[in-house]
Amino acid sequence: MDYQQILESIRRDITPLEKEGKQADYIPALAAVNPDQWGICINTLKGEQYALGDWQVPFSLQSITKVFALAMALSLEGDNLWLRMGKEPSGTAFNSLIQLELEHGKPRNPFLNSGALVMADVLVERLGNPEASFINLVRQLSGCPSIDFNFEIARSEHSVAYLNTAIANLLKYHGNIHGDIDRVLRFYFMICSVEMSCEQLAHAFLAFANHREPFDHAGFALTSSQVKRMNAIMQTCGFYDEAGEFSYLVGLPGKSGVGGGIAAVFPGQYSVAVWGPRLNAKGNSVMGMKTLELLTTHTRQSIF
Ligand code: GLU
Repeated sequence: MDYQQILESIRRDITPLEKEGKQADYIPALAAVNPDQWGICINTLKGEQYALGDWQVPFSLQSITKVFALAMALSLEGDNLWLRMGKEPSGTAFNSLIQLELEHGKPRNPFLNSGALVMADVLVERLGNPEASFINLVRQLSGCPSIDFNFEIARSEHSVAYLNTAIANLLKYHGNIHGDIDRVLRFYFMICSVEMSCEQLAHAFLAFANHREPFDHAGFALTSSQVKRMNAIMQTCGFYDEAGEFSYLVGLPGKSGVGGGIAAVFPGQYSVAVWGPRLNAKGNSVMGMKTLELLTTHTRQSIF
């Protein structure tokens, strides 16, 4: 398969979409990113790498890091994690309060902000220094020791955290946050602020593409069955209120973030990271989604 040639032709095909969508601006520091960037990197399990565009420019991962938080929380809690959250698509926005109230403080899935706040509570409760454990894991997964939190983005998000604070309070009211709300929120914003390039992100997701092998990184361990199930949750819940559309158009498990990144895996074959800051109305990268749609169309490879 000549992935490089396919990437070149995708770049030509997506050019008309270059100005479509709008970057996230509800976090002030994200509004300052140049929206006219696009990059992609594919890492195969055989060790090949194919890349194009701004694939070495770091960007804010935002919700993509919920995948790493899930790996840590599952490793620590096992199936007990599902006593505190579900694994169903929500059909609502990632930061919606309505469903959480109706369902008595039990988040539908770990990739909603509410689910991630419960996972943050687990990690704060169980780990002596959750920030250090988290960054250590992502550095190991990406093979890049210089990856770090972006303190300015974390501070910027904290300064306007009206909705996430409301979600955390509702969770606390229902007993689904055990620790101090401010501590949990601070850790959550730090997680969201991590920056990586497509190159580093694709590398980090190889662990999920390699679903037949157990996960064992930086002291966090999952069975191959748990890795497979993480991919299942990415497939059904990884794209906000557009998981069905992403399944339909792309057909790969993955996770998006409001920084415009998408990481996805073709289990047993490759991991891929794509980035374009302009988002559609549902919060997914316009260029990112189209790129992956064309990738699975041209390669005729998807999980379906
Ligand atoms: N930090 C962002 C928030 O909580 C993450 C959103 C996202 O990427 O989905 O709003």
